[in-house]
Amino acid sequence: GLEARAVSAWFGDHKVLDRVSLDMPAGLVTALIGPSGCGKSTFLRILNRMHELVASASLAGEVLLDGDDIYAPGRRLIEARRRIGMVFQKPNPFPAMSVYDNVTAGLKLTGTRVSGPARDDLVEECLTKGGLWKEVRDRLRQPGGALSGGQQQRLCIARSLAVRPSVLLMDEPCSALDPTSTRRIEETIRELAHEVTIVIVTHNMQQAHRISDQCAFFLAEQGTPGAILEHGPTEAMFTTPKDPRTADYVAGRF
Ligand code: ATP
Ligand code: MG
Repeated sequence: GLEARAVSAWFGDHKVLDRVSLDMPAGLVTALIGPSGCGKSTFLRILNRMHELVASASLAGEVLLDGDDIYAPGRRLIEARRRIGMVFQKPNPFPAMSVYDNVTAGLKLTGTRVSGPARDDLVEECLTKGGLWKEVRDRLRQPGGALSGGQQQRLCIARSLAVRPSVLLMDEPCSALDPTSTRRIEETIRELAHEVTIVIVTHNMQQAHRISDQCAFFLAEQGTPGAILEHGPTEAMFTTPKDPRTADYVAGRF
């Protein structure tokens, strides 16, 4: 699993996260919820070392992956990338590359070598786990860009699985998709949760309720940096939230 300890983040001297601590255990789906601008995406990017790619960005705190700090001196970026996959809001397969090559592209990006029949097996396995195999088994040579939006997003999930990550981060993966595609991806996420630690940002409270085991509610009030106001098992967050602001948010009142 993943654990964030007292994570703070800045863009220049603008502090956007204040001492966020959260345990995201293996086997659970963790949903990050909260209003726009409260730092959910920033927090997610810190979890796989994408935050540091922004020139003005800085951070404090620790992120432990199975007990090891991914920010410890000497830890390489590529290592975090291999173990922690990411899926974005907008499906972003390589549009001109075949479905097959899109899946194996994940391997090239992290310098992992798999050859011959093992490659075919891996592609089938990842597309199956991504919930896409049956739809594309006869279309493996077609360009990724020829798939529907929902299929493209599942292709991106399959691509992220090719390096066998132990964590999958998802930033509003369904917000560009129709309800049917959304349901397909929710089913895929529940299946994947058996073997991959999942952290998902969503604005869709029904979705958070349906697919997550625990929720963390982020809030940034009146110019203060984002922080977790409340977190806990999903059912408790929705039925017996401790803070009235959590109750309002999960009920869709702001
Ligand atoms: P949303 O729900 O709208 O996606 P969010 O909770 O994901 O919002 P973030 O995108 O993490 O919020 O943004 C948190 C704060 O950090 C905001 O004030 C935002 O303006 C700021 N911010 C995000 N990215 C950058 C950046 N690259 N440079 C400067 N400020 C940034
Ligand atoms: Mg965001």
